[in-house]
Amino acid sequence: MSDFIPVAAPALIGNEKKYVMDCLDSSWISSNGKYIELFEKGFADFLGVKYAISCCNGTAALHLALLALGVGQDDEVIVPSLTYVSSANAVMYCGAKPVFVDSEDQTWNLNPDLIEASITDRTRGIIVVHLYGHPVDMDPVLAIARKHDIFVIEDSAEAHGAEYKGRKVGTMGDIATFSFYGNKIISTGEGGMVCTQNDDLAARVRQLKGQGQDPKRRFWFPMLGYNYRMTNIEAAIGLGQLEKIDWHMARRREVASWYRAGLSEFPQVDFSPEMPWARSVFWLSCIVLKDGIDRDMVMNSMLQKGVETRPFFYPMHILPIYQSSTYGKQFPVADRLARQGLNLPSSALLTQPQVDFVINTLKQAVRRLV
Ligand SMILES: *Cc1c(COP(=O)(O)O)cnc(C)c1O
Repeated sequence: MSDFIPVAAPALIGNEKKYVMDCLDSSWISSNGKYIELFEKGFADFLGVKYAISCCNGTAALHLALLALGVGQDDEVIVPSLTYVSSANAVMYCGAKPVFVDSEDQTWNLNPDLIEASITDRTRGIIVVHLYGHPVDMDPVLAIARKHDIFVIEDSAEAHGAEYKGRKVGTMGDIATFSFYGNKIISTGEGGMVCTQNDDLAARVRQLKGQGQDPKRRFWFPMLGYNYRMTNIEAAIGLGQLEKIDWHMARRREVASWYRAGLSEFPQVDFSPEMPWARSVFWLSCIVLKDGIDRDMVMNSMLQKGVETRPFFYPMHILPIYQSSTYGKQFPVADRLARQGLNLPSSALLTQPQVDFVINTLKQAVRRLV
């Protein structure tokens, strides 16, 4: 690795190359083949669910989940404002409307106490997002969903392997979605997965991702479907990654533990939370700077020393496409996190000297400003 320390880099340390070469040698390069089946089966076993259905990316996975649950025109779906844009966009693809909820201070995830005030007679469900690898406090969310008879989708794109009270993220809602984009815990280049325990939902997702074709009657399309398939080559990379997922998770935790120790006596920053009931996967190691410290100036001076960082996501309620749909609601927690938060280099390939260098660079940059 050069002197430049990036926020993310995929770690291809297993059988990825061998399996991809097997695809090329056998000419099974499209969306049929043994690696699709092995990757889906392996991921379902890893999670402990009945069905894992591969697709072309995590955004398509969310779209498939919403379609399978019957979301359509004029429906409303509750979504945290502080998330990656896909969680909200997928709702719009269905002609439905995302209704945004503020974050909570402790976990940075959507605040369960604010959900009920946003429920109307059009609300069909809730998308929770396990942001930056930390699980959502699911019990209150599931209780609200049961009470109002609405669905829960777990957008687990950033949280492969995270646990809530000993239960894996992605096993608690009606459907869970995952992403295997290049910077996620494990990657297929581009890719996604839809997971569920429900036979009917699984059958609908499979049909929808394959152009809507009737599973028993070739070239008969009884519903409007999509081509959202994953290729055998992508699945081959995914299987190589999945075989080493324990290593990927352990490395991210170790990197986070070095940061936590190095920053524990540094009061100007709050490091990524981990609640007593949670096992985070620390997809990204994050910090939130105390109010008054100019986040962008900190990022700039770190970059000058060769350390890449990333600002937190913009909250959805300030994006032009969503601004008009926020009912004049306030989102003080998401606003503060988005203004003061940043992601530190978090690749599984980082060494302790590199993390120490990042910590020192950060401390110097902050000290210069206070
Ligand atoms: C990455 C991500 C997605 C989308 O995944 P893609 O594979 O890039 O389409 C969805 N939701 C969240 C929270 C993400 O971080």
